[in-house]
Amino acid sequence: MGCIVVTIDGPAASGKTSVSRGLAQKLGWKWVSTGAFYRGLGYMAQQTQVDIKNEDELVALVKSDNWSVQMNDENTNFIFNDQDVTEFIFQEEVGTLASQVSGYPKVREALLEAQRALASEDYNLVAEGRDCGSVVFPTAPLKVYLTARSESRAQRRAEEQGKDLESTIEAQKQRDQQDASRKAAPMQVPEGAHVIDTSELTLDQVVQKVEDLVQKHIN
Ligand code: C5P
Repeated sequence: MGCIVVTIDGPAASGKTSVSRGLAQKLGWKWVSTGAFYRGLGYMAQQTQVDIKNEDELVALVKSDNWSVQMNDENTNFIFNDQDVTEFIFQEEVGTLASQVSGYPKVREALLEAQRALASEDYNLVAEGRDCGSVVFPTAPLKVYLTARSESRAQRRAEEQGKDLESTIEAQKQRDQQDASRKAAPMQVPEGAHVIDTSELTLDQVVQKVEDLVQKHIN
């Protein structure tokens, strides 16, 4: 792999996406949400009535050629049957589906190649998710793990999506528990990762902290 990859992992709504986007924009790099792959798969399964508990059918869906992930400065877009369905996949309900499909080892394996293919000789990349530092890009020269108190995280997401706080806290708690306890690539702090608690920090402050780490460890 010829380009520099920085990984940013962490639980739901810890700020990974905003931080990755902000960092990439400041550095002139590309960024990708690997969650978009799992969200897109959950969404496709729902739309095509594929049983969310059938690992082989989910793998077949991954291997079909009617979807793609596209990076741009603002977002990670998911295209399904030539339609941009990005606005649907980032709803918390689809996050729950994503967490269910992401527990299957064969599904993870099937998505790995497409995720790694986003790294290229032509640009540097910020990759965010749950296992970017541990599995997808284990040789990344800088790994970051973001945490935040669950109330701060839920508040952030509830405000973004106009949902009530209580149900958001509950949905995230379940998702984090599921993501951390699964056997295949569980959410964890990757070895050597720099942990940043974002509860009391503004977005700009977190981006600045990660940028400082990039300057220190990469340049
Ligand atoms: O990060 P995001 O909330 O978009 O991820 C949605 C879900 O996709 C997570 O709850 C997790 O189950 C799954 N995921 C994963 N590995 C990644 C990224 C996301 O298992 N690298």
